[in-house]
Amino acid sequence: MESAKLPSPCYVVDEALIEKNLDILAGVMERTGARILLAQKAFSLYALYPEIGMRLSGATASGLFEARLGYEEMAKPLAAEGKTCENHVFSPAFQEEEFEQLLGFVDHIVFNSWRQVEKFGPRAKAAGKSVGLRVNPECSTQEGHAIYDPCGPGSRLGVTCSCFEAAEKGEKGAELLAMLDGLHFHTLCEQDSDDLERTLDAVEEKFGKYLSGMKWINFGGGHHITRPGYDIPRLERCIRKMQKTYGVTVYLEPGEAVALNAGFLVCTVLETMKNGVDIAILDTSAACHMPDVLEMPYRPPLRGSGQPGEKAYTYRLGGPTCLAGDVIGDYSFDAPLKEGDRLVFEDMAIYSMVKNNTFNGMPLPAIALRQKDGQCRILRQFGYEDFKTRLS
Ligand SMILES: *Cc1c(COP(=O)(O)O)cnc(C)c1O
Repeated sequence: MESAKLPSPCYVVDEALIEKNLDILAGVMERTGARILLAQKAFSLYALYPEIGMRLSGATASGLFEARLGYEEMAKPLAAEGKTCENHVFSPAFQEEEFEQLLGFVDHIVFNSWRQVEKFGPRAKAAGKSVGLRVNPECSTQEGHAIYDPCGPGSRLGVTCSCFEAAEKGEKGAELLAMLDGLHFHTLCEQDSDDLERTLDAVEEKFGKYLSGMKWINFGGGHHITRPGYDIPRLERCIRKMQKTYGVTVYLEPGEAVALNAGFLVCTVLETMKNGVDIAILDTSAACHMPDVLEMPYRPPLRGSGQPGEKAYTYRLGGPTCLAGDVIGDYSFDAPLKEGDRLVFEDMAIYSMVKNNTFNGMPLPAIALRQKDGQCRILRQFGYEDFKTRLS
């Protein structure tokens, strides 16, 4: 990739690498009959939605805007070509004003509480939608990342077994239960299928008796299916077991796995300085352009670099914002960094573009697509107006 010719900073998504991920996901679908959806919240490069929709079963959304984007850019254009794509939505709480609109965009609606089923379920059913309820199997499988654990104490995400049973025994229990076509859980984050297997045991133990009456079960996201070393045969055993035991259709809605290791962030060294350590200031920011580096936190891979001290010249790389902690990490290089050097951070397609912001008036990185023919096409560049029009 000729990064020197691109604007800086610039996200570059590699179409061939996306396709490689889609091949893996489509393989799981073909072998098991499971349906896999793109979770747009991780990756919303809608220029590729037609391509993604041709290979997967559709998209899922976290609310009205993503649902509309999935409809406009995937379901609707592909329907015109004769390919049916499903469009799903889950939200912890839907609003009255958005609900009517949502009915025009989605096929599946997943609620987060019995109260929401009661409030919106009848309208969803009358409109012919498939209705689901998110459950909380109370099975934490991720240590150290409480912020990404929907099974933690006091979680607002999903109905627990005791709440489920209380509602079922209530006055309207039978009526509410009859509205459900499926159950949904989402408890994983960047995990392998052994954690899925453990979670499914908890789901079966707590909600198994309700599943036989359902049409589908949705395993949520967080399945790192396209990561080298992920145990795909075990995933497929999990899918088949649920299909066989309960006669349900299995859905998965990965976000990360669709675009894992399929994008880059090209940036430029603006300045170097010293304060005990060597420091390089870049034209990109952890806080604005890769917020998960600070939130998760993690150290993104940087092409051609080593761990601190591994190569001759070690630098702390940081952004040009006023935030003292706007540091991407410490990396080492074969040669000293100098003004104008281009650096390429890897695995920057997911949870990057969808999360960036203009804190400090930072410009938003351009968005480019490296096509299968090797050509790089700039899809979008941002300027002052994009900063200004979000404010008033
Ligand atoms: C975040 C999320 C996903 C996608 O998760 P990934 O970790 O990107 O695979 C899917 N479904 C729901 C409900 C989510 O909240």
